Amino acid sequence: MSVKFSLENYTFEEVKKLDKNKTIIMFPIGPLEAHGPHLPLDVDIRGAEITVELASKQLEEYGYSIVSLPVLPYCIADAAHSFEGTISISENTMLNLLRDIITSVVSHGFNNIVIFCHHLEPKNTDVLNIIEKEFNLSKEANVLVSKAIEKSISCNKNILDGEFPLLDMHAGEVETSLFLWKFPNRVKGNYSELTPKWINLIKQFANGANDFETAGANNCYLGDPAKASAEKGRILYEKQAKILTEEVYYFMKSDEAI
Ligand SMILES: [Zn+2]
Repeated sequence: MSVKFSLENYTFEEVKKLDKNKTIIMFPIGPLEAHGPHLPLDVDIRGAEITVELASKQLEEYGYSIVSLPVLPYCIADAAHSFEGTISISENTMLNLLRDIITSVVSHGFNNIVIFCHHLEPKNTDVLNIIEKEFNLSKEANVLVSKAIEKSISCNKNILDGEFPLLDMHAGEVETSLFLWKFPNRVKGNYSELTPKWINLIKQFANGANDFETAGANNCYLGDPAKASAEKGRILYEKQAKILTEEVYYFMKSDEAI
């Protein structure tokens, strides 16, 4: 996260002076998680930070003050847990962690909080949705859980070159492109030799699979990493950030309308 938006760089006096009604607290989340034999464990952590940072720059142009929490590097990540290095926490821990962090943020006068999680796993998404509902119903804070990743999947099919772009779900062309754009030295050279892995996770899970390994993703990637490029990484993530920006813009507008 750039120095500019990061809460870590503020003094308490600077936080006190912020116009709380105009300030949006961005809350990026992404677990340490295995991402194939070619990418490091922090793909979702960096992906959350990069998307939030790109969107923050755009939102500033709309006149909002943006402050980002440090990325939360843990969530429910059971799907890849059988692969070494993946860290997953339980549903209850995730619920309580989010409740405590948001309650603490709110106690300092902030009331607009946007959660952007780079990790799509149904159990984890369910927890995020519970949190959103809880805070909004209690009127303690306005919480938005971004759906920018889900929404960008259908746009990505016009950018990706792999055969089944909708199935490029994990460490495939999308995420490998992100790393080729932002951290090219951290992508292992073997990415260009990996064969495409097309698995319909929804079908596999309906047939009894319960994680990537039992669904057949034996190297922990789903998609076509060999088709990745830095340029596609830029296009994909700028588009995703634009979706997040629009979500936040309308979230703030609807709040003003009330
Ligand atoms: Zn990922």
